[in-house]
Amino acid sequence: MAQENKALDVALSQLKLAARKLELDAGLHKMLSHPKRSIMVSIDIRLDNGAIGVFNGVRVQHWDARGPFKGGTRYFPELTLEEVTALAMLMTWKCAIADIPFGGAKGGVCVDTKKMSQHELERLTRRYVSLIFEYLGPHRDIPAPDMYTDAQTMAWIMDTYSQLKGYSVPESVTGKPIEIGGSWGRLEATGRGVIHCVKQAAQRNNLKLKGATVAIQGFGNVGFHAAEAAQEIGCKIIAVSDSTGGIYCADGLNSEDVLTHKEKTGTVQNYKGCQNITNDELLELQCDVLIPAALENQITCKNADKIKAKMVAEAANGPTTPDADKALYEKGICLIPDILANSGGVTVSYFEWVQNLTREQWPLEKVNRKLETKMTKAFDDVLSIVEREESDMRTGALMLGVGRVANAIKTLGLWP
Ligand code: GLU
Repeated sequence: MAQENKALDVALSQLKLAARKLELDAGLHKMLSHPKRSIMVSIDIRLDNGAIGVFNGVRVQHWDARGPFKGGTRYFPELTLEEVTALAMLMTWKCAIADIPFGGAKGGVCVDTKKMSQHELERLTRRYVSLIFEYLGPHRDIPAPDMYTDAQTMAWIMDTYSQLKGYSVPESVTGKPIEIGGSWGRLEATGRGVIHCVKQAAQRNNLKLKGATVAIQGFGNVGFHAAEAAQEIGCKIIAVSDSTGGIYCADGLNSEDVLTHKEKTGTVQNYKGCQNITNDELLELQCDVLIPAALENQITCKNADKIKAKMVAEAANGPTTPDADKALYEKGICLIPDILANSGGVTVSYFEWVQNLTREQWPLEKVNRKLETKMTKAFDDVLSIVEREESDMRTGALMLGVGRVANAIKTLGLWP
């Protein structure tokens, strides 16, 4: 696995900042700087052409002081151990900010899903799960979807785990299809949660959302559902993009139609009545709300001074680098950090786990209502630190998340 990703440096510098502000004990800071466990595996599968394919897989379990490890599984060709470690750390803070009883983990496989058949992906997923099986489980570590994995991937994870156990364990994974114990509203949860945060932030910043212009980088599950939720409250989506590029339309576009177009042609580009733009141009558009919902390191010192949005809501994990953070804050741009903005996904994952453990299925209205209550509470909790500390929202969110985890570790004590 390649090792040159900067994501871990960023995560560690964020932890350092929170530790300093919280006057955290040096030992505790050191403990939180390292994941509890990193598992690296080599996944050998039979490819459709008869050859053997060998793929690197990883699962990083950062901290579980507040509950079992929890986090997504990402399939991405350039995935690195350091990046997954950083993402696992973010999950620990995210679960603490959302105040759900989980720790943080992340996993993934270095694979380009676009070059694999469904059969190959199924074999890859099952083999991966079998290799990390003993470290998984509803009270150990519960995977969920992330980049380039979906409900079907989760179904294979659940089935493999259940087969190896000898009985059905729906609570071993979240983000599953509804028919095998998935929760209503989980698919939309991350995108919807982002917009709940945008609503809260808009209220505080006197930004009218009816007619507000929104640009979304990334049109996967999160970007699409953020667009839908934004449209529901009267926002105008003026631009969206995917890995092939973006589209811009000053009059606003219909996300449902763009999705149909993308499904037909494989790209959002060349959509009727829109101008093709690049991903970089999308980030620099004049708009009210910018939602990066794609990869890490998109807003950096190179383009931060060109960002014209009034508000940035981080639907992706780690889209803004620390120097860009500072630049945006100095420009007076309100930034809702990833660990708060995209916590709706893991929050509804928690609801799914509770439903599975109690063998219940809640109606969509109940899930959505509970999601809004949780997101609003998390936003308020972060904001009260921001006001007390006169800090930016990322610092406030980190202080809340890191502080809660540190308190849990202190209370538990060290064994032996
Ligand atoms: N992969 C998502 C995240 O980064 C969801 C994790 C989960 O639901 O466990 O927050």
